Amino acid sequence: MARTSNFAALSSAVINASIGDRWATAHREWDLASVDEDPTANAECVCGQTNLRWLYTIANLQTGSELFPIGSSCIQLFERPDLNQKVTVLERLVKIKRAAQSREKITLTREYFTRAVLKDLHVRGAFTPDKFNHYDPREDYDFLLAMFNKRTTMTASQQRKTSVLLNRKVVRFVSIDERLK
Ligand SMILES: [Zn+2]
Repeated sequence: MARTSNFAALSSAVINASIGDRWATAHREWDLASVDEDPTANAECVCGQTNLRWLYTIANLQTGSELFPIGSSCIQLFERPDLNQKVTVLERLVKIKRAAQSREKITLTREYFTRAVLKDLHVRGAFTPDKFNHYDPREDYDFLLAMFNKRTTMTASQQRKTSVLLNRKVVRFVSIDERLK
């Protein structure tokens, strides 16, 4: 019951702000714009669901209008794998940002990373060119992906390089990423 009424409220909010006048067309016009975290989990979704922790802003790609806040369970109601993937990536990136703000060391673990997170960082330019990657950011990405997939312990020098990439390049990137509030 709760899900049904949530969906009714969500879909009417989405349709009202869309060009399409039915859910079937309207729900394809939207993308995730940004995410914020409410550690007190007090926020309320446009559908009326309360106690949200992750607050998404969705943007209509055709009109530019935005809806906020949207809870992650409502993002799932769009039934779009691309949006669900972005939810996972953005939540990890927010975790990295928060950890960096409280001066915790970022580690290359599933707590903070997935393959999709590393790819997102690479595609968005987190790995800046420098002499250590021979001015080819892909070297940083390939290195971190190999370390993330590695089943054996990293050598001391691999650990040092990983730590520098995460705690300088990745931390610098998440601090200026406009998708993370
Ligand atoms: Zn909702």
